[in-house]
Amino acid sequence: MDDDRLDDKAEADRLRDQREKGEFYDQQRLALLNSELTIANAELLQVRKNIQRRRSRLQRVRRNLKKQRVRFRNSLRPKIIDLDLGFRPMATQGSVDKVIGHYTAGPQDENTEDAIRLCRIYHQAHLNQGWSGEAYMLCFTVEGDILLLRPAKYVGAHTLGYNTGSYGIMMHGTTGDNPTAAQKKSLQWWAKNGSNKMMGSGRTTVIPGKLKWYGHNDFNPTSCPGNFKPTYRAKGKA
Ligand SMILES: [Zn+2]
Repeated sequence: MDDDRLDDKAEADRLRDQREKGEFYDQQRLALLNSELTIANAELLQVRKNIQRRRSRLQRVRRNLKKQRVRFRNSLRPKIIDLDLGFRPMATQGSVDKVIGHYTAGPQDENTEDAIRLCRIYHQAHLNQGWSGEAYMLCFTVEGDILLLRPAKYVGAHTLGYNTGSYGIMMHGTTGDNPTAAQKKSLQWWAKNGSNKMMGSGRTTVIPGKLKWYGHNDFNPTSCPGNFKPTYRAKGKA
């Protein structure tokens, strides 16, 4: 026998011995593969950790952006102030199909604080007359803020014969007074966004911009709402 054949025989014997001892695998190769697997697992774990870290960083960025967006949107929208007026019992109204704009036939407000003061005076005057309270649902102040007066789920007291099925809104002022740019913007905002969600429960149940808008004197013989009328008719865009 030559050397090669001797080697072959020795290798065959070694493998047979291994099998007889129940060692079916090449232990050295197995050890090598195991250590490679351990390294690969460690690398995978590292990659997973990196992904996790990046994901939580992304989530933080996303949360932060969301907060900034809400803050920005709130800075664009009018302040909505509930005067929380107490009313005598009023009839509720069902579906609403129009917005009717008014002026107060009184002084124009100097600012929102002044508008609130005037609204409280008118509300008290109505109560003193034995009426339910402030006749309109909303007041748009010269600064562009919105005051919540009579909840819109109740019939208003602003337009003879047309109080049921309408939203009565107003700006302080009288003949000769004009709406401010801030009031126009605020009306436009309300036309688009004046749903219950934005205004609070019991306020406006339909998007006001979808309704037809009028001035008081489209229905009754009155000078109301004076120069405010084109602005009302155009839903704040004039
Ligand atoms: Zn009026």
